[in-house]
Amino acid sequence: MKRIGVLAFHGDVIEHLQATRAAAEKLKLKTKAVEVRTKNDLDNLNGLIIPGGESTTLFKLCQQAGMWEKIKQIDHIFGTCAGAIMLAKKILHKEAEQQVLELMNLTIDRNAYGRQTESFEKKIKTQLGPMEAVFIRAPKIISVGRGVKILAKNNSEIIACEQKIGRKIYLATCFHPELTTTKFHEYFLKEVFK
Ligand code: GLN
Repeated sequence: MKRIGVLAFHGDVIEHLQATRAAAEKLKLKTKAVEVRTKNDLDNLNGLIIPGGESTTLFKLCQQAGMWEKIKQIDHIFGTCAGAIMLAKKILHKEAEQQVLELMNLTIDRNAYGRQTESFEKKIKTQLGPMEAVFIRAPKIISVGRGVKILAKNNSEIIACEQKIGRKIYLATCFHPELTTTKFHEYFLKEVFK
């Protein structure tokens, strides 16, 4: 049995829990998906999902809860949208006091598609198959460094990628797969169960 936590401060918490449970059922992988709100909730997790929302707020709330360093120790992390921003080593248009976990070798540009009203949906091709992708005030991955595998592009822009560092695996999407598909959650679970 593997425990997957979903950081439950704000954003698509329920959708990620449901997508994780549906993916586990499809793959017949014994998984418990749980909400994470405190430092103690991070104990004994095999993987963590950081939902979209607002990366500046996520930073503040993780800091207040004293979770920052402990999150960095988790071997498998899947970040969507603001979660992807949290994983990146370098952020463009960062707020002054904002910090990120700096785990993935990539540069990401916050709010690069414009304001909330510029949010959009689009059918995309990915390494995991075609899917409908929802971009909500999404970031753009501007560049990836060594060791990062690209999983999806929107025209020439990288919108999903993965980095393995030893037994650590980080997965990032600029869009919200939890709203339309379980493919990314299945992929993440397969990595966790490897
Ligand atoms: N614009 C948000 C940020 O900078 C991300 C938006 C989202 O997660 N849907 O954190």
